[in-house]
Amino acid sequence: MKQLHAARHAVEAHLIRGFLMSHGITAEVRGEYLTSGWGELPTDVCSVWIADDTQFTEADELLKAFLSGSLARQYGGQAWTCPGCGEKLEGQFTECWSCGHARPTT
Ligand SMILES: [Zn+2]
Repeated sequence: MKQLHAARHAVEAHLIRGFLMSHGITAEVRGEYLTSGWGELPTDVCSVWIADDTQFTEADELLKAFLSGSLARQYGGQAWTCPGCGEKLEGQFTECWSCGHARPTT
C-alpha cells in the first residue's frame, strides 16, 4: 500500500479512485471516517492509496494527467450524467465513480 494523493475532500478522493480503477489500478480511499472526535483534524481529509506498489509510477502519471486536465481536454471537458444512477460527472471521467457505469459514447 502506498499513498498516492491527499485529496481536498471525500468526493475528490472517490473521483480519483474511480479514475484509477477504470485504468486497472486498484485503489482505495482512506480517512473518510474521521470524526470530529479527532480534534484538529478536519473531518473530510481523505487520501487515495494504491494497493500494488509496482503500479505507483503508472498511477502517479495517470493522476498528473487527470489533475492537469489533459483528460478533460481529450473528452472535450463535457460533463455528463450517469445513465446508471444519475450521478453528475466531470468530463474527464470515463466511468461513473459511484456505480461504475461506463460513459455513454455520444
Ligand atoms: Zn452511476
